[in-house]
Amino acid sequence: MDSGDCLSIRDGRLFIEECDTVDLVERFGSPIFVTSESQLRENYRRFRDAMARGWPDGPVDILPAMKANTTLATRCILSEEGAGADIYSPEELSGVLRTGVDPRRVSVNGGGKTREHIRACIEAGVRITVEDVFEIDLVEEVAAAAGIKAQVRFRVKPALPNLWRRTDFSQLSVPIDIGHQVYKSGIPPEYLVEMGHRVFRMEHVELVGLHFHAGRHHPSLWFWEGLMKRFGRLVGDLCRAWPNWQPGELDIGGGMASPRDPHNREFPRSEFVLTAVGYPFLVGLRGLGEKAYHSTLERILPVLTGQRERKPPPTVEDYVATITSSLRAELQHQGVSTDGVRLQTEPGRAMYGNTGIHLTRVKVHKRQTQPFAYNWVLTDTTVFFLAGGVLEHNRHPFVVASNADAPATMTADLVGHSCYADQINLGADMPEVRPGDVIAILETGAYQESSASNFNALPRPATVLVNGMDAEVIKKAETIDDVYARDVVPARLGGAFMVASRRGIPLPATVEAPIP
Ligand SMILES: *Cc1c(COP(=O)(O)O)cnc(C)c1O
Repeated sequence: MDSGDCLSIRDGRLFIEECDTVDLVERFGSPIFVTSESQLRENYRRFRDAMARGWPDGPVDILPAMKANTTLATRCILSEEGAGADIYSPEELSGVLRTGVDPRRVSVNGGGKTREHIRACIEAGVRITVEDVFEIDLVEEVAAAAGIKAQVRFRVKPALPNLWRRTDFSQLSVPIDIGHQVYKSGIPPEYLVEMGHRVFRMEHVELVGLHFHAGRHHPSLWFWEGLMKRFGRLVGDLCRAWPNWQPGELDIGGGMASPRDPHNREFPRSEFVLTAVGYPFLVGLRGLGEKAYHSTLERILPVLTGQRERKPPPTVEDYVATITSSLRAELQHQGVSTDGVRLQTEPGRAMYGNTGIHLTRVKVHKRQTQPFAYNWVLTDTTVFFLAGGVLEHNRHPFVVASNADAPATMTADLVGHSCYADQINLGADMPEVRPGDVIAILETGAYQESSASNFNALPRPATVLVNGMDAEVIKKAETIDDVYARDVVPARLGGAFMVASRRGIPLPATVEAPIP
């Protein structure tokens, strides 16, 4: 593990900062999410310093995407550091405003904003990042009623024919350009010029800048060079169409990979070939007879589930240097002055990913030998607590926390205890494990806790914040009563009796009551 990493191995134990992860599970239970405060502060400062170095042209802001981690204590740390925020929903807006954030550094994204949401944005003084063609009319109306001039940016959607490599958002071979076009966000270019002219005639709306977020299609610097070229070209087109306008701020969104990038690593990239060619081959093998068929399957399985080593993604410093230099070069080429332009970025996974781990205990090591050998390590967590990763086909690296430097001696699927296949990591090499051993699933600080759900009525785990030797709960674990708290059983279905029998008190059958 690198220097500057909150994780270390000491005497065979995995530590996060100065805390032994096995002790954390003994103290706080299993499973739990754990967040490193020093890692978060360091990540923020690295982004801030790299942006300031790469963009001396004007001020810079880091607006971490709140959806990646909605825990308020985590957000308070970022607000204390001076970070802004990229937010999407009215609910995220309400959350971030409780953390002492500077509202001028908050960008409110999202299509279909309601009048109430726009009013809340205007009252709070946050930036409205416009996504719909007629949203500006609603902003003008609400801002006029409040007697305020609202500052907005347009979220643009340039074409990206130069980005021909495969997008990581699909398991199939789909060019980034298609992946980007079918994504709903951003204003299509054909509406932008007219929208600008409409805003310039408005009394209560000011267009202060442009915003562009494509997402994590590809971890490479090549991807970012291509994105900034097309963004810069569109900014140039718009500046020529609006002769008296200059961008005051440019926001390049997020999408940089996190250091142990787990994104789209579920299967090797040869999946498509394996499906098209491999499947008929595997089925054809049955002609060999059942025994030979199964023993061949057993030998082929490691190929199907095997992990391909990929080179680590670029560092924050590399990303930012490439982004700032390619954007500046394209803007200069377009004749757009960058003097005084405020540059903003909205990292989600690259800000939070390596700040978090997920700790779980082994329940059972299950094996079979017939019809072919297979191994599972069943844990007390579930992919439903790591749901963001399922949607992005993640494969998170993991460590047996109590035996962290032991060599791998077996291959097994790391699985969760819901009734689905619940595959956390397929065909993983690991040391022998016993029931009760703690496993640390790494790189879970972004999108995992914030997407956890309650399948099989499993209560969602707590989050613990570690700071040096200190550890404290920043999000409570759900109880079984929390899981059923929103259920209402009508009296005619015995609701009142269910409640009464649980409490041992007789209640009239006509009472409708939630199960407490
Ligand atoms: C999701 C999102 C981000 C963060 O994306 P990452 O890939 O996690 O960096 C930033 N900006 C906007 C508008 C987003 O929707």
